[in-house]
Amino acid sequence: DRIPLIAGNWKLNQDHLQAIALVQKLAWTLQDGKHDHSQVEVAVFPPFTDLRSVQTLISAERFELRFGAQDVSQHDSGAHTGEVSAAMLAKLECSYAIVGHSERRQDHGETDALIGKKAAAAMRHGVTPVICVGETAEDLEQHGASAVPVQQLRDVLAELPEAGEIVVAYEPVWAIGSGQAATSEQAQQVCQALRRVLAEVRGDEAAAATRILYGGSVKSGNIAGFMREADIDGALVGGASLDAAEFAAIARFR
Ligand code: 13P
Repeated sequence: DRIPLIAGNWKLNQDHLQAIALVQKLAWTLQDGKHDHSQVEVAVFPPFTDLRSVQTLISAERFELRFGAQDVSQHDSGAHTGEVSAAMLAKLECSYAIVGHSERRQDHGETDALIGKKAAAAMRHGVTPVICVGETAEDLEQHGASAVPVQQLRDVLAELPEAGEIVVAYEPVWAIGSGQAATSEQAQQVCQALRRVLAEVRGDEAAAATRILYGGSVKSGNIAGFMREADIDGALVGGASLDAAEFAAIARFR
């Protein structure tokens, strides 16, 4: 029922020329593997400066790849220097915008309330927010795995309109870029708890339709285990998404 989503977060990597080369290579690799985009959706999240080039390439070549931004402003327009609006992303045919990545929470002090407002701004313009939650190693030790991500999701959802598509990404901070992924059982437990929150706040139907991704040191060697879990509907991939062959192999998890 839920179409799996394999999402590549490039973070602060790839200028627009490198982006064109990477998207081309990825699309060709997927085509060579006869990738069926209706069965597994694949999306890339390049830096803002790459989005126009990526959009032009994807539309000219009619690639079925989707793409999105790594962040979005809570504001629609006005005196907000350095911000990029959801309306601008929508015009660029971005399907998604990541909000609340742990690196933005840490480096920019983003709160759940702000992250919720960013997600709501995306939704106002038809851009699906990919809402990131996850516990630090310290949170894990003090409160177990689920408590912090569950509370983060509740606080973000409180800012959202009642209906509309969202994606949730569970990314334990200790698993990001560490080479130490969560076990699929651990990740499933938290994703199940997150789906219960979705059911409470947005209703059973919305909860059943919402994709929940796992992120944190996902590779072609561990993706299959995550995808076998009932409440994990895809992955948010960092480092491994910068290698077209490896990322395509992750998208071929079956
Ligand atoms: P890595 O896959 O490099 O661990 O990064 C995960 C991540 O933060 C994706 O948003």
